[in-house]
Amino acid sequence: MEKEKAAETRGAAVRVLFVYGGGHHSPITPYMRMFDSMAGIEWTTALLPQSAGMLKPGLEEKYDVLVMVQMMGSRWKQAEFSEEQRKAFADLLKKGIGIVALHQAIATEPAWVESPRIVGGVWRNEPYEVDGRPYPKSGCLHDTDILVKAWKPDHPIVKGIPEFVINDELYLDIYKADDNVPVLVTDHPKAKGRKEIAWTRTYGASRMFYFQLGHIPEKIWAHPQCRRIVHQGIRWAAGEAAAQ
Ligand SMILES: [Zn+2]
Repeated sequence: MEKEKAAETRGAAVRVLFVYGGGHHSPITPYMRMFDSMAGIEWTTALLPQSAGMLKPGLEEKYDVLVMVQMMGSRWKQAEFSEEQRKAFADLLKKGIGIVALHQAIATEPAWVESPRIVGGVWRNEPYEVDGRPYPKSGCLHDTDILVKAWKPDHPIVKGIPEFVINDELYLDIYKADDNVPVLVTDHPKAKGRKEIAWTRTYGASRMFYFQLGHIPEKIWAHPQCRRIVHQGIRWAAGEAAAQ
């Protein structure tokens, strides 16, 4: 993989761009503290929709990984993204850049049909379709204890992470693409199907890792195991072997 070689030759920190959209899921301080705690990471931020124009081919020269709590669709703030911006973002992923998507990054709007293919999941507050198939309205369960457990303990993103229980929001009845590779699962009785709460996939030349937790950023992104999952996810998405 070209990016892998590039990172090795550079021998430098993984360059992260944190992409967020404001609102209750992304007060920026908890993320800043989390990134500051990570060895081998350099980071800066981009606020959407204002900075949407920078998410285009060429960005892969400046950054190795985009950590995104907001993608190119929004329900909460009615952020507007043009077709051109969405296409440029997909073109960037086709060229290759790592993606770590968190929590609400799977919430999008029907007009952005590429979103489920990129992130492999959909949360919507009304019934929706993916590739012509209908899905019911999604839900959420707040303030619930969630067991977090590796699907395959030797996966680089979860290596060394013990099982743990954390209180957060669980998304219910979300679309999950069949070709997602599960990374973390729960045993929560309200979770259905394969019960994965984190998965990977590829889109174009990009590695994508999605982690569903993060409703209360101050709590989740201060939690040592959640930080470690994101850190190892960043390294995996950048094409490196994960931290031991
Ligand atoms: Zn939430």
